[in-house]
Amino acid sequence: MSIGSKIEWLKKELPPGVKLVAVSKFHPAEAIWEAYQAGQRIFGESRVQELTGKQKALPSDIEWHFIGPLQSNKVKDIAPFIHTVHSIDSLKLLEEVNKQAARQNRIIRVLAEIRIATEENKHGFTPLEAKDILNKENINSFGNVQICGLMGMATFTDDKTQIRKEFQLLNALFKDIKSSTFKDNGCFNELSMGMTGDYLLAMQEGSTMVRIGSYIFGNR
Ligand SMILES: *Cc1c(COP(=O)(O)O)cnc(C)c1O
Repeated sequence: MSIGSKIEWLKKELPPGVKLVAVSKFHPAEAIWEAYQAGQRIFGESRVQELTGKQKALPSDIEWHFIGPLQSNKVKDIAPFIHTVHSIDSLKLLEEVNKQAARQNRIIRVLAEIRIATEENKHGFTPLEAKDILNKENINSFGNVQICGLMGMATFTDDKTQIRKEFQLLNALFKDIKSSTFKDNGCFNELSMGMTGDYLLAMQEGSTMVRIGSYIFGNR
């Protein structure tokens, strides 16, 4: 199947409340262009240099999402155009995104990444850290970021029960923070979870954004 028909197939499969982030990392601009021609507008990338190159080469109505580990000193390179950063994993990074967004006179949407997997190398806040950092005072002091929800990656395993449990944990934390800190603030609505191998499970457990790469673009 072509990239275009995979996009079309996914658009039929995903319910209206679930956004598709087409993860194009390590694939060339031509592949993104094919998906774009099939109507896809949201693309996810995980390396700053690769992303800035593609952003220059591709149409300006693409909504770019940053999904990988982000170093604070690179934020300025993507601040002029980035739509959403899924991978906020420290207060320092949140502060830097806010600062660079202010310089660009923009508001950047962000998600807090939560470490739900068992692997040591996965990034993100623990649930307790997230509750601590996403407090009312912080939220009101960051004028140029909009905190829109949470992101997580499940453990890389065939054990569906474990993956489901991790997604359930993330959704429970999401609801908890939404109903407390964001009670009077309607913007906390996104739960970014699910990739090629586990997006069906993630949708069953409440995902509002799936990040799908290899299914659409092939192996990296
Ligand atoms: C690469 C990546 C994806 C896409 O993974 P696939 O298995 O290729 O769908 C999703 N989320 C993050 C954070 C990634 O780094």
